[in-house]
Amino acid sequence: MAEIVIRNLRKEFGSFTAVQQSSFTIADGEFFMLLGPSGCGKTTTLRMIAGLELPTSGEILIDGEDVSQKPASQRDIAMVFQMFALYPHMNVRKNIAYPLVSQGVAKDEVKRRVEEVARILRIEHLLDKGVGGLSGGDRQRVALGRAIVRRPKAFMMDEPLGALDAEFRELMAEELRALHDRMGATTVYVTHDQLEAMQMGDKIVVMNHGVVEQFGTPQDIYDHPATLFVADFIGSPAMNFLRFEGAFRAGDTSIMLGGVPIETPELQAEAAPRPLVLGVRPEHVTLTDDAPYRGRVEATEYLGTTQIVTLSTAHGSVKARIPSGHVARPGETVGLSFTARSLSVFDAATGRAFR
Ligand code: ATP
Repeated sequence: MAEIVIRNLRKEFGSFTAVQQSSFTIADGEFFMLLGPSGCGKTTTLRMIAGLELPTSGEILIDGEDVSQKPASQRDIAMVFQMFALYPHMNVRKNIAYPLVSQGVAKDEVKRRVEEVARILRIEHLLDKGVGGLSGGDRQRVALGRAIVRRPKAFMMDEPLGALDAEFRELMAEELRALHDRMGATTVYVTHDQLEAMQMGDKIVVMNHGVVEQFGTPQDIYDHPATLFVADFIGSPAMNFLRFEGAFRAGDTSIMLGGVPIETPELQAEAAPRPLVLGVRPEHVTLTDDAPYRGRVEATEYLGTTQIVTLSTAHGSVKARIPSGHVARPGETVGLSFTARSLSVFDAATGRAFR
C-alpha cells in the first residue's frame, strides 16, 4: 500500500524537456490514470515513479520517503508492460513463481502465494499448463499474476491493454479494475484512450507536451475542464467551441453571444473585451423552435436512441446529441439552447477556463 506524491517533477533528455514541473498526489489504493496524446510524457512520468528513469529535478515521495534518486530495486514497485514477456519454457506456475524464487522465498511459501494469486485471477486450472498454448487473455492474467505475487507497494501499468482488440480490451479493463478493487493496491496506469481513463480511473492526470493540464476525478475533468486542451481531448463527440469576442464581470451569470444572452455558471473572474471560447458538450445542446440563438441544420447522424445533429452558427459548427425521435431536417433554421451549469468559458489566448 502506498501514497505517491509527485512534486515539481521534471525530466530533460538533452535539450528536450519531456516532463515539466509536474505535481500531483496519488492516494493510497487509488487507480490512477496518466492520460494524454502520444509523446506527452506519460511513460517518462511512470518510469520516473518506478525508478527506471531518474528525474532531472523534483521529488517523488512514496509513503513520505523521498525515493527520487533511489534505484528501482529499492522502491518495491511492480511494472506491468504492454508486451508480456512470459518465459516460454516454463509452465504457468513457474512463470508466476519466478519473482519469488529469484528472491529466495521458501518453497512452501512460494506454492501458497502462487496458488493464492491464481485464485484471485481465476487461473487455478491453468497452473500446470505451458504458456505457449494460452489465449491472449490468459497470458495477460499470468503476466499480472507474476506482478502481483510479489505484493509490491504499487503497480505501474503502461498501456497494458494496448495490443488487444476492442471487445477483449473492454473485458480485460473490467477485470483489471475488479482485481484492483479486490486487492486495493495503488495502481498508476498510462493510457492515451480517454474513454478507458474515464471508465477505469479514480483520478486522472491529463498531460500535454510534458505539462500537467489538469488533475482530478473523471467527473471533474469532464464537467469542468481547466483548459481548452482538456475540453477537446475528453468526450466524444468532442465539446463544441463557439468563438466570439466578449467581456464579463466577476459574479456574472450570463454572457452575450452574437447579441443573445446565454446563461452560464457564475463567472469567478473578470474579463475585459477579448477573444473568448464558449464550450458546450453535445449532450447539453437542446434544439427548440423559439430559442433566440439560431443555427442551421447541416447533417444528422443516427445512433439508435440518440442522434448527432451538426449545425452551423455565427460562431462555428455545433454538434447536438438529441433524442432520435426529434426531427431535424438539413437546411432548416432552429433555435439552440444550452444547459447553463454545463457551460465553460475559456480565454482564447491562454486556453484557460474562467472559474
Ligand atoms: P507514447 O504514448 O507515445 O509512449 P508518452 O506520452 O508516453 O507517449 P513519453 O514516452 O514519455 O511519451 O515521451 C515523451 C517525449 O520524450 C517524447 O517526445 C519522446 O520522444 C521523448 N523521450 C522519451 N524517452 C527519451 C529518451 N530516452 N531520450 C530522448 N527522448 C526521449
